[in-house]
Amino acid sequence: MSQILWFRRDLRISDNAILSYAKKDVLPIFIFDKNILNKLPSIDKRVTFIYKSVLELKKKLQGLGLDLAIFYDEPINVFTKLKEKGFDEVLCSVDFDSYAKKRDEEIEKIIPLSRYLDSFILNPNESLKADGTPYKVFTPFYKSMYMITSSKNLETFKRNENLEKMEFDYDFIPSLKQMGFEEQNMPAFLKKDAYVLLDEFKEKIADYKEARDFFYLDGTSKISVHLRFGLISAKEIFNYFKSFEDVESEFFIREIFWREFYNCILFHFPQSENKNFNNIEINWSENQEHFEKWCEGKTGVPIIDAAMRHLNNTGTMHNRLRMIVASFFTKNLFLDWKKGEEYFALKLLDYEASSNIGSWQWGASTGADASPYFRVFNPYTQSKKFDPEGIFIKSVIPELKNVEPKLLHMENGLSSNLFIEYPKSIVDVSISRKQAIENFKRAKNENS
Ligand SMILES: Cc1cc2nc3c(=O)[nH]c(=O)nc-3n(C[C@H](O)[C@H](O)[C@H](O)COP(=O)(O)OP(=O)(O)OC[C@H]3O[C@@H](n4cnc5c(N)ncnc54)[C@H](O)[C@@H]3O)c2cc1C
Repeated sequence: MSQILWFRRDLRISDNAILSYAKKDVLPIFIFDKNILNKLPSIDKRVTFIYKSVLELKKKLQGLGLDLAIFYDEPINVFTKLKEKGFDEVLCSVDFDSYAKKRDEEIEKIIPLSRYLDSFILNPNESLKADGTPYKVFTPFYKSMYMITSSKNLETFKRNENLEKMEFDYDFIPSLKQMGFEEQNMPAFLKKDAYVLLDEFKEKIADYKEARDFFYLDGTSKISVHLRFGLISAKEIFNYFKSFEDVESEFFIREIFWREFYNCILFHFPQSENKNFNNIEINWSENQEHFEKWCEGKTGVPIIDAAMRHLNNTGTMHNRLRMIVASFFTKNLFLDWKKGEEYFALKLLDYEASSNIGSWQWGASTGADASPYFRVFNPYTQSKKFDPEGIFIKSVIPELKNVEPKLLHMENGLSSNLFIEYPKSIVDVSISRKQAIENFKRAKNENS
């Protein structure tokens, strides 16, 4: 039996299901998928990150006496050729994304595909209420997982030590340039190994519950990108923190389960990818100029502009900032959350469809366990509370570096400074807030 081990979003050799279930003679592969890559701009940062991670994986597999054959093609072509060469089974990690599901269905018509769950801790099919229906609210969902969350160690996949590399051409490595991409600068933390990030974060975990909201501090784990592409598994993160047997990790572990929750939501309610989860019909604004100004970070609201410019420059955004810009987008600008979600999908290095869709719907008050519609963040109050000295804002918008911090936290506060040319806010924050609440009330009445 000759098995293909298809690495996709599980770019690691530890706690990896396919390296555990594989039998003997194997061909590990990675496909730079033209269907995905051809749609991305040449400056996409994720491609640089994945590219480096794939080369790293190849080295690690070589260290085990195996190797990684790399393809730059459409998966359908790759598997048609491999089938002709006599391969008869593909092992891979489950991917719940809608493109991945369709792609896998196509591949299954060519070669049988065995899929294993190792990117998430929970199997959505088994994470149900007693009546067999899916949870829609996080707290009861999390409580129901007590047997798992209280465990000291979750069983991980042990690698089969008896695997043997099949004869194949392992030399082909396309360059980023050949695939139409320019190498991008990465934030420094992305050059670190996942366990180095966890070791560093361990030193700060006692403060996590409070510090995690202050976006000018370095108070969170920054593990989301490594987790997204499977350089570490969720179970490994869980086990790492549980190994210290202290209560300080509990709050952090709860956050990891938000990722699980949103994965279960999208799995059971796939229509929520494009439609309001709670079925409410909303006549969103179509103001294209507002949308563009938000994307470019030119809204005239310093905290929104700094967050969006930072996203555009680095591919990253702190969780609190994501909540603030999503609230501004869906409430103050009253734009459809789907447009904001798509923009994040284009830019975020840690883009994960389930977490992104779930969180955007949360911010728009249309989702599962969503923020109530009358909860509209005031961006100025938020920046005053979580960045009182304007440290983050000034680090991203250097022309504001000599401005008194209090002006950053006042609507159009910068207009009073004759030496600064900063645009006026594109919306009045209080008027637009009231309008949004009215619109939501009306939509709710019309839908009830
Ligand atoms: C509008 C919006 C969009 C988002 N889009 C994504 C996305 O595409 N991909 C993504 O991984 N996260 C997304 N998040 C969740 C969260 O912002 C990021 O997971 C977090 O900022 C990553 O940084 P960290 O690893 O330092 O987080 P930490 O605070 O250290 O948390 C550790 C891990 O827990 C998980 N986690 C924490 N908070 C959440 C949450 N609210 N929802 C889901 N998982 C969570 C993540 O896997 C994260 O890496 C989004 C949040 C919002 C409000």
